[in-house]
Amino acid sequence: MKYFYKVLHLFFPKICITCNTQLLTFEKLICTQCRHDLPIICYKNYKDNKIKSAFLGRIPIEKANSFLSYRKIGKAKKIIHSLKYKGHQEVGTHIGEWFGSILKKSNEFHEINHIIPVPLHRKKLKKRGFNQLTTFGQSLASQLNTNYTPNLLIRTSVSKTQTFKQRFERFSNSETTFRLMDTQLFKNQHVLLIDDVMTTGATLEACCKELLKTKNIKISIVTMAYTE
Ligand SMILES: [Zn+2]
Repeated sequence: MKYFYKVLHLFFPKICITCNTQLLTFEKLICTQCRHDLPIICYKNYKDNKIKSAFLGRIPIEKANSFLSYRKIGKAKKIIHSLKYKGHQEVGTHIGEWFGSILKKSNEFHEINHIIPVPLHRKKLKKRGFNQLTTFGQSLASQLNTNYTPNLLIRTSVSKTQTFKQRFERFSNSETTFRLMDTQLFKNQHVLLIDDVMTTGATLEACCKELLKTKNIKISIVTMAYTE
């Protein structure tokens, strides 16, 4: 039993993940003060929806939204880092439940058939041990009453010759390619593509281009954070 609690403590630290102060018994992961100070975006209308505008003229997107505003320093970064680099996967569950309940109330994402995470390359997945979007995607799916479908869109590397050619285009994400393993399953379906942080949207755009190979697919996008 003692071992059980030790393990439990490992996964559910009793300190706030953003400010490191001791949590009170009723607080979970993020202290009350930090919760109030979180830079929550949750776009409520199209006019101010910066993600939707960012994809305008690039790819057809149905709906888009993001939970937090991401800056170089700040609480959003600490939250994402604790999930991604410290292995606190329960953070994904928590944010998924929180954001998912808001999206559910907005009624804008009630027609989603599948939630698809931006995939990690298998080498990176092996190194990290998990995709940071798994718990987030699962709890979003549960809130929106839909399927979490993680294994059909995969990330691959381009060949060495191509990599050499594209070395100077490194920042445009051109070394990465995505492949959809089944172009039938999402036919006539509305999929929700999810990612942790959106900056330029290049990765999401590359994923969408691959998904758009499916006939009559509709794509929406949700990210945990957005670099405004
Ligand atoms: Zn705090």
